[in-house]
Amino acid sequence: MPSLETIIIGGGVSGLACGRALNARGRDFILLTKEVGGRMLTSRSHKVNYGASYITEDYENIIPYMGGGKRIWTHHCYFHDGKRPVSFYRWRTLLEIGSLIRLYRIAGDFRKRMRRLRQNSLWHSQKEALEADPVLKAYTRQPAAEFVKENGLEYLNRTYFSPLFNSTGFIEYDKCNTFAYLDNLMALVCRTYVADHSRCCRLLPRGWEEKIIQGRVTQLHRTADGLLEVRAGGKIYQTENVVLALPYHNARLFYNVPKPAHNIPVFVLEVDGERNKCCRNKEVVFFRPEEHDITILWQQVTGTDIIFSKIRDPELKRYYTRHRIINRVYWKTAVVLSGTEWFEQKLETGVYLASDYNICGLEDAYITGVYAANQICESS
Ligand SMILES: Cc1cc2nc3c(=O)[nH]c(=O)nc-3n(C[C@H](O)[C@H](O)[C@H](O)COP(=O)(O)OP(=O)(O)OC[C@H]3O[C@@H](n4cnc5c(N)ncnc54)[C@H](O)[C@@H]3O)c2cc1C
Repeated sequence: MPSLETIIIGGGVSGLACGRALNARGRDFILLTKEVGGRMLTSRSHKVNYGASYITEDYENIIPYMGGGKRIWTHHCYFHDGKRPVSFYRWRTLLEIGSLIRLYRIAGDFRKRMRRLRQNSLWHSQKEALEADPVLKAYTRQPAAEFVKENGLEYLNRTYFSPLFNSTGFIEYDKCNTFAYLDNLMALVCRTYVADHSRCCRLLPRGWEEKIIQGRVTQLHRTADGLLEVRAGGKIYQTENVVLALPYHNARLFYNVPKPAHNIPVFVLEVDGERNKCCRNKEVVFFRPEEHDITILWQQVTGTDIIFSKIRDPELKRYYTRHRIINRVYWKTAVVLSGTEWFEQKLETGVYLASDYNICGLEDAYITGVYAANQICESS
């Protein structure tokens, strides 16, 4: 059986990034995947995102493929305070000006450090890159609730940041560490845009489309002569390297991948309807976890709404006078939040872990794919 240099398993952003980097260097590889895009799922018209939704200006690696989407303005965002959705730009926020300035300083510093960590992560593992930055490392060890208290952010957190965290992290902020909390706040600090996945899924595989093979991988093991054997769609492939570019709940079925601290599921609903008075004419509304099953209500360019929900059938009458569910998607792993321990991306000789096991999000998943490609090219 002819043996390949590399098999990438998974055709989401991390697998496609790896394929693109290997192809650019003329390497011998194929990408096996159930489907292309993964969590970059859109509606048929490509106008509504059912998975990852926004990118920030700091997503430098993927902006060339995914940029160009609509800007998300903070003044179009509302935060449900228990009674009604309120804007960030109001007098009450000004009373917190001292804590706000302190937070913006910390967030600015975090942003610089994240840029450096991302650059380093193209050539070093994310774990090594984190070790090189004691401040970021300390953030992974500090509970977010402690950070909030230490910086006098109780009011701002309760009103704005906790609903924001709940809407994109899909769990309560006090279950995560300061690293995840500050990473999440980057959506407020940086310019933020709707992600354009149709463009990304077209551009990333351009020039190597024939190397993408549709099929579900069911087995991965090492042969007596040291090669890796991959079984997919009734076929067996042999290879020197494998890149696992898929979430834990998929990869664990055929390989002993490390389990992230939080593997968080979510339901995504596309809804057509008339919002009630409370939420009417508000582009984005974020909700607090203690009062609502849904985390976000987000008006799309099509006029429909996208709702992220922790349960399958949330009580939509709370938000609409009339409504119709157009589509519903369940993500068993929507986002991943790491704890204090970050994972090495080289799992054994020739086996690399890509995807969002350490840092969640499109940009960081992309970087893990490029890192795996760089390692493979360097090691041969
Ligand atoms: C609802 C939601 C909202 C999100 N919001 C944002 C956001 O706004 N901004 C942001 O940056 N990130 C967001 N994320 C997170 C982001 O989508 C992920 O971090 C990123 O897309 C992970 O990409 P990936 O390529 O590593 O994995 P995936 O995109 O999950 O790709 C995995 C691929 O593996 C394939 N696969 C699975 N099992 C097998 C198998 N056995 N054999 C072969 N192929 C297999 C799948 O078909 C898929 O193509 C969100 C995610 C969700 C679900």
